[in-house]
Amino acid sequence: MRYAILADIHSNLTALEAVLADLSQQGGADEIWCLGDIVGYGPDPHECLELVRSRCKLCVAGNHDLAVIGKLDISSFNPDAVKAIRWHSSQLIESETHFLADLPQKIVKGDFTLVHGSPRQPLWEYILSARQAEENLTYFNTRCCLIGHSHLPQYYQCDTTCSSGNPQEGNSFLLSASRYILNPGSVGQPRDRDPRAAYGLYDSPTATMNFQRVSYDIVSVQSRMEKVGLPRWLIERLACGQ
Ligand code: ZN
Repeated sequence: MRYAILADIHSNLTALEAVLADLSQQGGADEIWCLGDIVGYGPDPHECLELVRSRCKLCVAGNHDLAVIGKLDISSFNPDAVKAIRWHSSQLIESETHFLADLPQKIVKGDFTLVHGSPRQPLWEYILSARQAEENLTYFNTRCCLIGHSHLPQYYQCDTTCSSGNPQEGNSFLLSASRYILNPGSVGQPRDRDPRAAYGLYDSPTATMNFQRVSYDIVSVQSRMEKVGLPRWLIERLACGQ
């Protein structure tokens, strides 16, 4: 079986479509899994929700997904994020709100646990260090945990301690006997100074995770964001990937 792992789409339809087109070129996947933050920041919430609902077999909730429907306190979000959340809240229709409200915070499937932030705090914690990864090992029972939230492609390989790395495009990792925490990077708002959309592709027969990058038409997304009045920094950051 092959699994495509998508995180942090953030209402960026052009990036999502580019990822799905690349996935087809790579031979497709038996299942697509989504690690949350379908919405927030970008200009295309309806289209992204529609595609995720029709294409993703599994999906967990991200902090933005719950913030836009009023299920999460937004006082700790930065002002630009709050503006985008308020715009999203004004756009969503009832069926979209229900879909987001019903998303689980954690899913266990075979060798994998899926969360948005971390197994310890699925909505809020950013895993950014090997030490944090180690602390999280007791919060999931499977061999691997898939995370998003930081918008950075990352891997943590853990035995008694964890080592970490930042995978580049085309890197593939054989998942050996160790335990892993893996972040495929963000589809719709990458923050590793590479503006291309990021996603992961896991091949179960070979136990290999591939980290993919895909170029997309950033300018068209930026002009749609301008049209609906989303904050300047959210528009600009797409071009520099941070
Ligand atoms: Zn996010």
